[in-house]
Amino acid sequence: MVEELAQAEAAVADCLGAPVWALPEQDLVAALDAAHRLAQRLAAVQLVLVRELDGRGTVRTQGASSTAVWLRDRLRLSIPAARRLVDLAGALDAGTSGVGAALASGAITVEQARVISDTVRTVHTAAGAEAAEKAVGVLVEWAGQFEPALLRKLGSRVLDHVAPEVADAAARAALDTEARRADRDRHVTLSELRDGRLRLSGNLDAEAAGLLRAALDPLTAPSGPDDPRSPGQRRHDALADLCRLALRTGELPEHGGEPAQIVVTTSFDVLTRQLDAGTLDTGPRVTPEAVRRLACDAAILPAVLDGSGQTLDVGRQRRLVTGPLRRALVLRDRGCAFPGCDRPPRWCDAHHIRHWADGGSTSLANSVLLCAHHHRHLHHGDWTVRLGGDGHPEFVPPAWLDPDRLPRRNQYHRRT
Ligand SMILES: [Zn+2]
Ligand SMILES: [Zn+2]
Repeated sequence: MVEELAQAEAAVADCLGAPVWALPEQDLVAALDAAHRLAQRLAAVQLVLVRELDGRGTVRTQGASSTAVWLRDRLRLSIPAARRLVDLAGALDAGTSGVGAALASGAITVEQARVISDTVRTVHTAAGAEAAEKAVGVLVEWAGQFEPALLRKLGSRVLDHVAPEVADAAARAALDTEARRADRDRHVTLSELRDGRLRLSGNLDAEAAGLLRAALDPLTAPSGPDDPRSPGQRRHDALADLCRLALRTGELPEHGGEPAQIVVTTSFDVLTRQLDAGTLDTGPRVTPEAVRRLACDAAILPAVLDGSGQTLDVGRQRRLVTGPLRRALVLRDRGCAFPGCDRPPRWCDAHHIRHWADGGSTSLANSVLLCAHHHRHLHHGDWTVRLGGDGHPEFVPPAWLDPDRLPRRNQYHRRT
């Protein structure tokens, strides 16, 4: 066998020396087909050798703990690749000989062989040896047309063809297993990072996933043609929007007698009228800029302390745009007022044009409706907002964006 393989290697070496640039197109394609077929047949030879070595227990006498480990060292494979090789060699040897023969003839690829042997194993469990044998025939035929991923998908319904009498029961059993697994594995983990951020991971079951998508998807659209956020960043902001909306409804279960809300605690220097860095009641510290932005938001209560830690004010009524004032604001702005944004009012915070820490009042003339994204953008970016002569908000772009700094308005809500 070593001699035959050496001959094959010599033939391959000849091919590598041949001038492919001189080949006409149809010969190129035919050569590609032949090379691919040969690679699959050669893989079949390798699998037979692996199987034989594995069966003899050769590797143990050489001190390796398993065939996969031995293959890793011998052939310099990764452990997963080595394991896949051993598994497939075993599967082709055990019962599903039709698959091995198809691979050996170059009719299917190694990847397809893996899909077929996985599928046939499932069929064998559900419907017995005869159905498994039939399934090999059907799947090898399908493999002539379909790539591995599609073959796996089609394979999940192969029972319909080879054992229709058990197919429905098997499909239901598979569904049950799936549902039990989803039920068992459902979880959401929130891991605190050191700087107050959270790592969010988990598995949602189909129902919760549907709810999340239905709630999140409408909020993840870009907020205009210039939205620079990545899809992941938009999804992140949408999740925060959802929480804001839930907090704003006031329908969350109460927490120690207080409605569920975030409180940001900060101190205020009366002399310089400066807000200090703040602390959310959930622990994390936030920058003074973030405190100013959060203090604009009706879902977040600012608690302002003086130098000695006494509460100066919990800005419950006066500083939050609620009730009739919010309704008037919604009537005027009809949604996020930032140019090009189409977010409706329910996703918006009321921003104080002149911040209350700087002496700004909580009034219609000092408020503008902004979605969370544009609220952040305004607090942390270079845009400014003011009310125009007609009492409607206009936004002045930074000079790097527009040297003339011509004010812009939201046209979107005006049209409707
Ligand atoms: Zn604001
Ligand atoms: Zn907006």
